[in-house]
Amino acid sequence: MMVVDEESRLIRETVRRFVERELMPLEAHVAKQQVAGDDGSALTNAQYKHLRVVSKELGLWGLDAPEALGGFDLPAVAMAGVAQELGRTITPFVLPPDTPNLKMLDAVGTPEQRERHLKPYIEGRTVSCMAISEPGAGGDPAGIRTRAERTADGWALNGRKIWITNAEKSDFMIAMARVGEGKRQEGVTAFIVEQGTPGLIIERSIPMVGDTLTYELVFDNCRLPEGAVLGEIGAGYAPMQLRLISRRMEMASTCVGMTERALDILCEHARQRVTFGAPLADRQAIQWWVADLATRLHAARLMIHDAAEKLDRGEDIRHEASMVKVYATELAYDACDHAMQTLGALGMTKESPLFHMWGRARIMRIYEGPSEVHRQAVARRVLGGRR
Ligand SMILES: Cc1cc2nc3c(=O)[nH]c(=O)nc-3n(C[C@H](O)[C@H](O)[C@H](O)COP(=O)(O)OP(=O)(O)OC[C@H]3O[C@@H](n4cnc5c(N)ncnc54)[C@H](O)[C@@H]3O)c2cc1C
Repeated sequence: MMVVDEESRLIRETVRRFVERELMPLEAHVAKQQVAGDDGSALTNAQYKHLRVVSKELGLWGLDAPEALGGFDLPAVAMAGVAQELGRTITPFVLPPDTPNLKMLDAVGTPEQRERHLKPYIEGRTVSCMAISEPGAGGDPAGIRTRAERTADGWALNGRKIWITNAEKSDFMIAMARVGEGKRQEGVTAFIVEQGTPGLIIERSIPMVGDTLTYELVFDNCRLPEGAVLGEIGAGYAPMQLRLISRRMEMASTCVGMTERALDILCEHARQRVTFGAPLADRQAIQWWVADLATRLHAARLMIHDAAEKLDRGEDIRHEASMVKVYATELAYDACDHAMQTLGALGMTKESPLFHMWGRARIMRIYEGPSEVHRQAVARRVLGGRR
């Protein structure tokens, strides 16, 4: 049974109302903006500011941030419900702060870093991003080549990163670089790089499927102070994984929300549309899609809840996070695809939320680790008895 405490249930209801009253009405605008292919900011400044004011008034900021820093410290089980609700809309809005970097800063940040970076981040005053991937290393991040070398008063970063979301609008990024001659995970170290640091060059933006933009950037002798090291030198891989786990759980929950929405759209259309004298809902082909999607949706909800409960108990959920990430992202993609097929030409319009959710589900099968890499990780643990 999925047990959720009263506070979590109320917060989820509030998010649901926020999604229905504030975000869904903006979808037509969002769809138009993104078809027009602007700079990736689908909302006008006024819309964005309004959403920030309303969500703050509703008490929806800092939901899983530490209480000591003004947050609510909600458990992963509650956060799964929040992400599921937000996943039902295509209007892109993150309730500040974006969780994954928060988790990493909270886990290994020094008191100075918490004050300088974590606090304003939780208060919604700053935006950040994560720079791991490189032209030669993505699904296998232990292959990164960006180097960090000691200088008289700190560090110098040299290397190239690619596919970095939010790089341009971030106030700071967490960048992974290699220190020393260690192989693979050895030597991988996290650095906080503030926007505007000389030697940090954002070279170009890259429009992606799913209405998103990523960036390619270069560290050209980018000089950082000693205090820029986040966590231990050479031991950045484990906290980076912590961050990835948090994002994978959030992605899986978002995909549950997307699947719910796609299934709703599919069913509504199937009930109304008549072909060859009968509603589509009476056709077995459609019924099987509906049955299979509903079954997989149920399984995804239970899997996420189980993983979230384990995370809340402090268990290592790398295995579960891989499973839910693959399962839910592939489910959302299939749900959008079947809904688009059911709607026929209507499902092919860029005015429909389906097109936008489909694109987002598609990229989710790649970032935070492609499905195949997660399947390999799951299989290795199962085959090797390493659970
Ligand atoms: C929209 C988007 C946003 C992103 N944002 C960020 C970001 O903010 N920060 C960041 O650091 N990175 C980001 N990324 C990069 C992302 O994490 C990588 O693209 C991803 O990890 C895959 O790496 P790759 O593209 O180098 O593919 P590769 O690692 O080259 O893999 C390519 C394909 O090969 C196959 N493959 C790879 N390894 C195996 C294996 N072991 N077994 C079987 N098949 C395999 C898979 O099918 C995989 O899709 C983003 C990517 C996208 C698409």
